[in-house]
Amino acid sequence: MSRIALSSLRSRLLLLVLLALVPALALILVTAWEQRQLAATEAEEEALRLARLAASNQERIIEGARSLLIGLGQLPDVQAHAAQTCSAQLAATHRRFPRYTNLGAITPAGDVVCSAVPLRGPVNVADQGYFRRTLDTRDFVVGGYAVDRISGKPALTLAWPAVDAAGTLRAVVFVGLDLAWLPQLVEGAQLPAGSSFVVSDAAGLVLVRHPDAGGRIGRSVPEAPLMQAIQRQQGEGKAQVTDADGVSRLFGWAPLRGLQPSDRLYVSVGIPKDATFVEAKRVLLRNLLSLALVGLVALAVAALGGHLIIFRRLQALVRAAELLSAGDLGARARVGGADEIALLGKSFDAMADRLAAMVKGEQEAKEDLEERVSELDLLNRLGELLQACLTLEEAYAVIERVLKELFRFESGAVFACSTSRSLIEAVARWGAAAGGSGTVFAIEECWALRSGRPHLVDDTRSGPLCTHLPSPRPAACLCVPLVAQGEALGLLYVGTAPAGTPAGRPLTEARRRLVEAVAEQVALGLANVKLREVLRSQSIRDPLTGLFNRRYMEETLEREVRRSQRAGRPMAVIMADIDHFKQINDAFDHDAGDAMLRELGALFQRNLRREDIACRFGGEEFVLVLHDASLDDAARRAEDLRDSVKQMRVSDRGRVIGPVTMSLGVAIFPDHGATGEVLLRAADAALYSAKREGRDRVALAEAAEEPRTGDLR
Ligand code: GH3
Ligand code: MG
Ligand code: MG
Repeated sequence: MSRIALSSLRSRLLLLVLLALVPALALILVTAWEQRQLAATEAEEEALRLARLAASNQERIIEGARSLLIGLGQLPDVQAHAAQTCSAQLAATHRRFPRYTNLGAITPAGDVVCSAVPLRGPVNVADQGYFRRTLDTRDFVVGGYAVDRISGKPALTLAWPAVDAAGTLRAVVFVGLDLAWLPQLVEGAQLPAGSSFVVSDAAGLVLVRHPDAGGRIGRSVPEAPLMQAIQRQQGEGKAQVTDADGVSRLFGWAPLRGLQPSDRLYVSVGIPKDATFVEAKRVLLRNLLSLALVGLVALAVAALGGHLIIFRRLQALVRAAELLSAGDLGARARVGGADEIALLGKSFDAMADRLAAMVKGEQEAKEDLEERVSELDLLNRLGELLQACLTLEEAYAVIERVLKELFRFESGAVFACSTSRSLIEAVARWGAAAGGSGTVFAIEECWALRSGRPHLVDDTRSGPLCTHLPSPRPAACLCVPLVAQGEALGLLYVGTAPAGTPAGRPLTEARRRLVEAVAEQVALGLANVKLREVLRSQSIRDPLTGLFNRRYMEETLEREVRRSQRAGRPMAVIMADIDHFKQINDAFDHDAGDAMLRELGALFQRNLRREDIACRFGGEEFVLVLHDASLDDAARRAEDLRDSVKQMRVSDRGRVIGPVTMSLGVAIFPDHGATGEVLLRAADAALYSAKREGRDRVALAEAAEEPRTGDLR
């Protein structure tokens, strides 16, 4: 398991649950230990009880044997030492009591006279302790444990003195008690499997052992742990020892009664420790399984409860925090309840709300700033473009394009004052106002123009309205007069979308300021363009006649020649000179001559096409450039002009001046020259011809004309 998994809250909670189970586990183990101790004690007690039972059963057997011996001692055949009949009787008795190894009678001299087990030869037991003690005590004697000389079996010999009616000892009757019967003394005691039963003497000689592990029966094993324990305690006792078969047993022992201290025998019952602890083990196992089950249930409850109460909600919190940190400002934990996690979730959500509001505010401020910057850029661009405009038409087009972008959320128009200053005409329009009708209206129809100040209507349902507003009416509108150097040039009108239509945007303070700034820029730009137009006009036009001056003509002529060349079309240059003009000056005065020249200029402008150029070449000499005109066209138009001049009547201060005549020379590109200079010379030469031929006429240039010098005019 990784460190993260171990350090996770869920793992820690589960670990805590497991830790909470530790005391229960300890209690189970302690109880189990105590139960084992109790079971051990009980088993030892049981072993001791069984040993006692065996000892007391043995006592009863000995008592039974005593009664039997008393009866046998009174048998006449015994007292009479009638070997055959006596042995037969004893054998019959032996068959009834098979637990005895033998029954017999001994003469006072120690010779066995009769025996249940047939004698193979004379047997004398005068040296046997039980026999001598019987003679000495004349009482019932329990002898020591020894191998019976007749039956050849190890046995405990019990003896009784048989006396006749006179009190004379006639014989000693005996029975050999087979100790191998002893285990049966505890039969029915329900000893657990593996229990052992031992009969031993005080010196450690094993007389009976069941089961006989290690073949110890008949062997003296004073060093065996059980023997040592018996020797240490004497009398009754109990101990836990590991037996020769390697099994650990709980032993209880008791001495057999009725024996001489020197012949003392012990009966030991050993119960295997494992069998003793079976119940304790079973209980321990059951308790451990129960604890494990409880633990599993506790873990499951902790996991489920923890998930519902803690982790699910914490996960919502963590997920929201991750989303928020990844930039999702709408992420919220939305943890329910009223506990600490809920409080944390609410605090988190409140923090996220504030953060979102801050970011939104920042974003709006940024967008606002970007919009301001973009507006400023456009305003600057407007100024720059207007600065570069040569004509008002250009300026109006620029204004329309830039204002359409600046006020893309609104509609609007720029109006220019007419020369009479009584009417105002739309020169640029965008948005809804572009489709409006009133393109021309009287200055009085606008409140702003009337008052000379911006006129704002926040709500067109109430405010004093100008009559020039487009239809449908905007929700709000602003009219700002265009004023530069104290001169009213026109009007800037901006209106929001009509109320109830989408994309409506209020005319905020910032927008209003922008409208006014734009109006200022537009007014300044228009004033400059106007000024430039005047200045330019002054630099290229002759002030007296209003026609282009010679410099302009010379600049333009070369360009026009190249254009005709590119277009492959002809063009004409006409040079005209008033005949005897000097006489006019002389006959009237110089002013009258000027008046004549002015009228002549007006006549040219009236009679020429827009694309043609008329210029005052000097004094009373004029040059006309006619586009796309063949020699015939040019000659005809020259004739028309000549005629018109002739018809012209000029009056000055009540005097009629003139009439005058005019001579004209016509040259054609490309017939009479490939450059403006050559064409001018050709036309001049033709004019010279006309003068020479009598004036008041039109002369055509000759094909290959040589350059001339001199002036005929
Ligand atoms: P023609 O051309 O037929 O040979 O005779 P003309 O009298 O027109 O001769 P010329 O060209 O020599 O004289 C031009 C006269 O025009 C001289 C001058 O007094 C007059 N003139 C030139 N410029 C002006 C001007 O600006 N105003 C007035 N009033 N007269 C001018
Ligand atoms: Mg002249
Ligand atoms: Mg002249």
